[in-house]
Amino acid sequence: MNWITNYVRPRINSIFSRREVPENLWSKCDECGTMLFHRELRDNQNVCTNCGHHMAITPRERFAAMFDGSVFNEIDVPEPIHDPLQFRDQKKYPDRMKAAQKKTGERDAMLVAEGEIGALPIVAAAQDFSFMGGSMGMYVGNAIIAGAERAVATGKPFVLFSAAGGARMQEGILSLMQMPRTTVAVEMVKEAGLPYVVVLTHPTTGGVTASYAMLGDVHISEPNALIGFAGARVIEQTIREKLPEGFQRAEYLLDHGMLDRVTPRTEMREELITILRMLMNQPPAIKGNLPAPEAPEAAPVAEAAVTAPEAEPKP
Ligand SMILES: [Zn+2]
Repeated sequence: MNWITNYVRPRINSIFSRREVPENLWSKCDECGTMLFHRELRDNQNVCTNCGHHMAITPRERFAAMFDGSVFNEIDVPEPIHDPLQFRDQKKYPDRMKAAQKKTGERDAMLVAEGEIGALPIVAAAQDFSFMGGSMGMYVGNAIIAGAERAVATGKPFVLFSAAGGARMQEGILSLMQMPRTTVAVEMVKEAGLPYVVVLTHPTTGGVTASYAMLGDVHISEPNALIGFAGARVIEQTIREKLPEGFQRAEYLLDHGMLDRVTPRTEMREELITILRMLMNQPPAIKGNLPAPEAPEAAPVAEAAVTAPEAEPKP
């Protein structure tokens, strides 16, 4: 008996637990079903290497892939009042928040940062669909305002990656108020003569589409992203008509003039560099392998980024 419990059982357990580990290293593409090795998938920015299907990517991973040398500084976002309506559905709102924070490791559904792309300093904000459906609560509003203010103060273009189911129901009217708030923030960037570029990712719907996601100077989308205000079923029931195939998908919206570009995620960085340099009246980026910035030099790089654009517009 002792021999079985002390020797055989641990051996059996270790064999099974050893088998479980490699399974986590593989993820299955939702579209074509191919098993993809996690490192390969990460290197390709969560785009299926077989069929090109774009899977979800966290703001942090996106920024790491986009900014030069993966170097970026987070911009502080003022913390809003917690749970002002003391909202409760099946769970209390603060409990939902805590669960989402634990799951994602982020404070809320938007990350704002500044850094350089192709040696051009920019401010970028990215919405996190895995955090309560990327819902636009007061924090997201504060994040966009913080990003816009930073862009204006430092003379940098503002790039926003949207991904949201819409408003955050738990914040009621306070969530809806983020629509005019963010619209004013975008207007501030435009009045300063700075570009505001929106990259719409899957899915961008509801109040987000009705405000800051549709106010860009340039609208780029990732392939096959769902973009719309109301859902297709609601529209079908309202107008009592069958909707065309591919309705509310990026390619359809590009054909019908709602978008300027549909660009694969792996080419997005180059595309943004080209567009932003053009809009900022800068010469085309110099292609070549620049050495990756070293960690101790990160601070002077950020300072140079702050002063550079101010010197630019004079001539
Ligand atoms: Zn695939």
